[in-house]
Amino acid sequence: MKYMLDSKHAAAPLRRRTPKTVFIALATTVLAISAFAGPRILGDAGRASAPTGHAQESSVPPPVAASREYTQPEHPVAKTIATAAPAALNPHPPRVDDPAPGIDWQTHEVRRGDTLGRIFSEFSLGIGLASRIVEHETADVLKKLMPGHRMSLGFGPDGALVQLRYELDRTDEIVVRFEDSQLVAANRRRIPTGIRERTASQTIGSSLFRAASRAGLSDRLVMQLVSIFGWDIDFALDIRSGDRFSILYEERFRNGREVGSGDIIAAEFVNDGTVYRAVRHIDEDGHKAYFDLDGNNLRGTFLKTPMRVSRVTSGFSKRRYHPVLKKWRAHRGVDYGAPTGTPVLATGDGRIHSIGRNGGYGNTVVLKHGGQYSTLYAHLSGFKKGLGKGSKVKQGEVIGYVGATGLVTGPHLHYEFRVNGQHRNPLTYETPRAQPIAERYRDTFLAMARDRISQLSDTRPEQVASR
Ligand SMILES: [Zn+2]
Repeated sequence: MKYMLDSKHAAAPLRRRTPKTVFIALATTVLAISAFAGPRILGDAGRASAPTGHAQESSVPPPVAASREYTQPEHPVAKTIATAAPAALNPHPPRVDDPAPGIDWQTHEVRRGDTLGRIFSEFSLGIGLASRIVEHETADVLKKLMPGHRMSLGFGPDGALVQLRYELDRTDEIVVRFEDSQLVAANRRRIPTGIRERTASQTIGSSLFRAASRAGLSDRLVMQLVSIFGWDIDFALDIRSGDRFSILYEERFRNGREVGSGDIIAAEFVNDGTVYRAVRHIDEDGHKAYFDLDGNNLRGTFLKTPMRVSRVTSGFSKRRYHPVLKKWRAHRGVDYGAPTGTPVLATGDGRIHSIGRNGGYGNTVVLKHGGQYSTLYAHLSGFKKGLGKGSKVKQGEVIGYVGATGLVTGPHLHYEFRVNGQHRNPLTYETPRAQPIAERYRDTFLAMARDRISQLSDTRPEQVASR
């Protein structure tokens, strides 16, 4: 026997949405913005580049493990940054102090009509050497150069040519090595994909996405930022003009060209004067999570809302006039108005305790989460196929669909959240956090986290001087 849409007894305002909800709302915004602004060039905003002091770049070690192989012919943007190891799975890659010991790289973009001989003469290199290269069985592709492709020439400390690299396509290159002006080897290989770290920082004026775009961030990175802090900040409702963010993130590149953004490594978000910080940790199994500087998990164990897009139509209250029973009674859950058939999501990992008809509740699912918590979803039109008593469900998984079964006046979801059997208001209850950083990683993480956050300090937008 329960509750229904009742506009008279409206509705605690929806204070937070789940990260998923925000995702959808923001995804829509992204589309709208992209459609409006057209394609934009990433990484072109001044603030996006790494300050030299803290800049760092890592590249996946190429097949040949000589230290020279870390060297990437770099275009100017890439130059601000240094090199290290496979950071994809290593949050703290070793640093290589001098990525290009003594090699000076000159990059030439092939123009229409260019030949190797012409390029060599521009660099005052012998034509004879150019013709020996194009006679080589692997390097003979250099006979016909493709306009727009890049050739990089590496010169040793004495000014002699030591290496030539030529991009065949987006993934492969020809590498030719020289000693004493003689060709010693030429081979074709995958262009090593590097990961470099960059920072970006911006104060939010009218919208997070506009600010992110000014900082040169991809939509993917913004989504990640939103999902990291989405447990603490409602990005749809809480963002204020003057809020700001700084992030340290990975960028994937080949030959100095960005080929996509990687993960956020560390981030700081100031929302309405409150500072939130997050640092990535990857454990030895490759599991990734974000923690604050005390090692607390940023992720909550329960979504605030059991639907992707929702509207609270009746809040949790001690006394509410029941529109069907015509009586005053407690409303020990929250009602979300939504059309019949709208997916209902499990708010936490758990097991199905009961599923089926349940009097005035109509079609109802009750989930148990660990020992203390349970959640209830009522008035459903139907259940997700394949679920039964005892089934395991994951947070965010669809368990059923909004309906109007039981004692109701219209379709909505009635949602209850109980702690040790006591009803709690899901809109205000401080849900517990996911596990903090594991003890065995703790010390290393805390030191690393401070270090990572300090890398952000140089890029924070300027503070107004204190008076
Ligand atoms: Zn209700």
